[in-house]
Amino acid sequence: MYSATLSTSPSLPTAFAANRSSLPPACIATTSTNKHHRPLSPEKLALLIDKSKTTGQLLQIHAFLIRQGFDDHPILAFKLQRSYASLGRLDYCVELFDRTQNPNVFFYTAIIHGHAFNDLHDQALHFYVRMLTQGVEPNAFTFSAVLKSCPLNAGKAIHSQAIKFGFDSDTYVGTALVDVYSKGGDVMSARHLFEAISERSLVSLTAMITCYSKHGDVDGARLLFDRMIERDVVCWNVMIDGYAQHGRPNEALALFRKMLLGKVKANEVTLVAVLSACGQLGALELGRWVHSYIANNRIQLSCQLGTALVDMYSKCGALEDAHLVFDMIKDKDVVAWNSMIVGYAMHGFTQDALRLFHNMCRTGLQPTDITFIGILSACAHAGSVSEGWRFFHLMKEEHRIQPKIEHYGCMVNLLGRAGHLDEAYELVKNLEIDPDPVLWGTLLGACRLHGNIGLGEEIAEFLVNQNLASSGTYVLLSNMYAAARNWDGVAKVRALMKGSGVQKEPGCSSIEVNNKVHEFLAGDMKHPKSKEIYMMLEEINEWLKAHGYTPQTDIVLHDIGEREKKRSLEVHSERLAIAFGLISTQPGATVKIVKNLRVCPDCHAVTKLISKITGRKIVVRDRSRFHQFVNGSCSCGDYW
Ligand code: ZN
Ligand code: ZN
Repeated sequence: MYSATLSTSPSLPTAFAANRSSLPPACIATTSTNKHHRPLSPEKLALLIDKSKTTGQLLQIHAFLIRQGFDDHPILAFKLQRSYASLGRLDYCVELFDRTQNPNVFFYTAIIHGHAFNDLHDQALHFYVRMLTQGVEPNAFTFSAVLKSCPLNAGKAIHSQAIKFGFDSDTYVGTALVDVYSKGGDVMSARHLFEAISERSLVSLTAMITCYSKHGDVDGARLLFDRMIERDVVCWNVMIDGYAQHGRPNEALALFRKMLLGKVKANEVTLVAVLSACGQLGALELGRWVHSYIANNRIQLSCQLGTALVDMYSKCGALEDAHLVFDMIKDKDVVAWNSMIVGYAMHGFTQDALRLFHNMCRTGLQPTDITFIGILSACAHAGSVSEGWRFFHLMKEEHRIQPKIEHYGCMVNLLGRAGHLDEAYELVKNLEIDPDPVLWGTLLGACRLHGNIGLGEEIAEFLVNQNLASSGTYVLLSNMYAAARNWDGVAKVRALMKGSGVQKEPGCSSIEVNNKVHEFLAGDMKHPKSKEIYMMLEEINEWLKAHGYTPQTDIVLHDIGEREKKRSLEVHSERLAIAFGLISTQPGATVKIVKNLRVCPDCHAVTKLISKITGRKIVVRDRSRFHQFVNGSCSCGDYW
């Protein structure tokens, strides 16, 4: 039962007890020299067991115990068992346990703890049940150990037993219960339990904050966090990570700054969360600063930390830096390879992504579903339909990975881009899983690109009827009609959207200038430099006019006059960010923007022109990909 999950080296041999002469030679040599010394007391031996740092040391002491006839000593046997478990030798631990006659609560607690500690939760519960059937009464430590292994339902049962045995008000048991309920999603009960804990330790507070963050109540967590008098790095990490995981990267970074001001030293976990926030915001300068923090503080570049850097650099558009870090990661795991492959794919470097994929497979690592998301989207960027299908089948048949919605998304994108619209539609219609709005959006986008209004209408109608239409659906459909100059269609969509009550998600763009991330909503006047920004926008409009550009007002969904429509396009969030970028960076410097939605066709056309007129490279990361605007054209080839 255990052999599958544990180390494959020989288990504690039965001969170890039955035939003492078959001890490993090292043990005999050590023990024989001890023969001439004064025999050690059990207390001294217990201390030695606690201090053992390797299985080898523990085996030597174990051998000595046997020779001295101490192997039946209950405390020593218990300590041995516990130490084997914590050194990952659960097999030795189990053998010792099996040899113990009438194990008491300490033995049971140690074996339960050992299994829970090694993520063998079913076995931990199994020993707990065995303990109860043997008539051994659990104590507080047993409860806090076994609760680590409990899903919510089992946890509730054990909770009632803790009440029965009178341990529910114990701080450790209470904390473990908060953890069980919060992991199981029962935030209310977790909260009640937390409030009942009389001595709230840092651990229980952290458990509760983790609970709030995990279940989306980041603000609740923050309230609790702010009330804490004493905070260790773990609390800071939970809170910073909570913000980063819930798409609130600005707050994550603000808290990180506060943490550093409070002279708390960041560790690997902090930096991974902070790098994720930088990646989300496209905050390259801060990301670079974190990289130098790692170097200056001699923090070892673990695989996880290296991967976080690769991810940050590629999301911030600095692919070369991503690759430099990637090369420095020793013992790369599949997550590290994936982040580099996805990075290349995101930037449209198909060949590099495929080359990396083959290199990874050569190292013997098994690709995962994420690997194939990278590979398939790389194929989509290159428009290689046959290559895409080949990898899609390779994933399913050779690697036995069931395609997820994201893989279908890549395939629909690939087929749609290449104009194989019917094939793409067939694929979506025959999905074994429910297609999500993003997938439909991709298909609608392809219909717009290829001007296939018939199919576009059919899909949109289906989405509206099924209540699946998002604001994006209406925007895409309206753009499609507009591109075909079908004004009745545009008006129809406008009316439909009004009636549906679907709200358009507000566009938001950010740009990092001088280590600070500036965010803009459409029509935003809140920025301190608003006056200059709007003056720059006026100037841009003059340039555009001079280049004969007419705004695509027909894509505006609001029912307003022509002038207002023009105005509403001019103040789209990415324009504000670009204008701010132009006035606040050196001439010739690249302007990098991150946008939460797809870039609209008008902004796309305008940004191309701005790149030509100013001679600046403009990089926009929108919801679907990176756009690199250089000298009037975009790397996406006008397909996004
Ligand atoms: Zn726009
Ligand atoms: Zn583009």
